[in-house]
Amino acid sequence: MTAKPHDTFIASMPKAELHVHLEGSVQPETLLALAKRNSIELPATDVAGLQEWFLFRDFDHFIEIYKKLSTCIRTPEDLELIMHDFMRGQAEQNIRYTELTWTPYTHFENAAIPFADQLEALNSARAHAESEWGVLARYIPDYSRDIRPLENATTVAQWAVEGASDGVVALGLGGPELGNPPRLFEDAYAVALAADLASVPHQGETDDATSIRDAIELLGAVRIGHGIRCLDDESVVRLIRDRNVTLDVCPTSNVCLGVVPSMEQHPLPRLMDAGISVTIASDDPALFSTTLTDEYRAASIWFGLDEQALADLSINAVRTSLLPHEERTELERAFTAEFDSL
Ligand SMILES: [Zn+2]
Repeated sequence: MTAKPHDTFIASMPKAELHVHLEGSVQPETLLALAKRNSIELPATDVAGLQEWFLFRDFDHFIEIYKKLSTCIRTPEDLELIMHDFMRGQAEQNIRYTELTWTPYTHFENAAIPFADQLEALNSARAHAESEWGVLARYIPDYSRDIRPLENATTVAQWAVEGASDGVVALGLGGPELGNPPRLFEDAYAVALAADLASVPHQGETDDATSIRDAIELLGAVRIGHGIRCLDDESVVRLIRDRNVTLDVCPTSNVCLGVVPSMEQHPLPRLMDAGISVTIASDDPALFSTTLTDEYRAASIWFGLDEQALADLSINAVRTSLLPHEERTELERAFTAEFDSL
């Protein structure tokens, strides 16, 4: 097969990724190794079997698989290993900056790994990635919204605040939206916002446009994971534009989980036409057999984005990142120079 016209450009362009989960980026080979060394039984014992297991029936089935694979992570060394692999994969795609979500409460609950030990393990791999490959990362610890009691969400917010000087830039919120609306997490977000952390919840993937309004008004969201349901309500679209909220959109994830019926029907072009700030991302690349590079390729093939539009999307990810102003400006300058030379 001959390369598509934009393939070389897409592979080599500088990229930033703002919506990607550490646990969802563990490649099948690594997952099998972790399961083996920690004596965890998975429903499959080889890569092909795991890939079959990853064929999600629906969102609930996805959550079930996510929780099972998270139990394979038992030690800080496991976290360091998956972070190391993850950052190497980012470097190979010329992803120069990543805002990485991980779910610390899960590893605290499953394996009693204190938050500080989790962060230290990730930071060890992050420092290596920065010195070895010149790629940067910051963190968005998130809370799985179905966990009770809700005081645990406030605990995670406090952890996030403790990590603010060690790479944490925001508080995230993931897991099943239906039955777990934004208002339940106001206390947790109040803790994060008071410490100047950003609010970056998932919302409007499976719940409706009103829930996106609540994420902005009640939780102070500056960026939203997915948010694609906003198009159902023009007033929410206006709110997103007026508040300069960015949606971190993951097309392949949306199709894999049946959130949208097909790539042809994906709303990304309509979001862009509506003047909404968007970035594209891979979400859980190992589970959806995708990468950020593949997402750019999909945007080129399915949405007809040309090289300039792809470059604009990439630069928008830098602009809407949570790096301090000076570092953000410097990274944007580096991206612009690199795009000019492509
Ligand atoms: Zn996500």
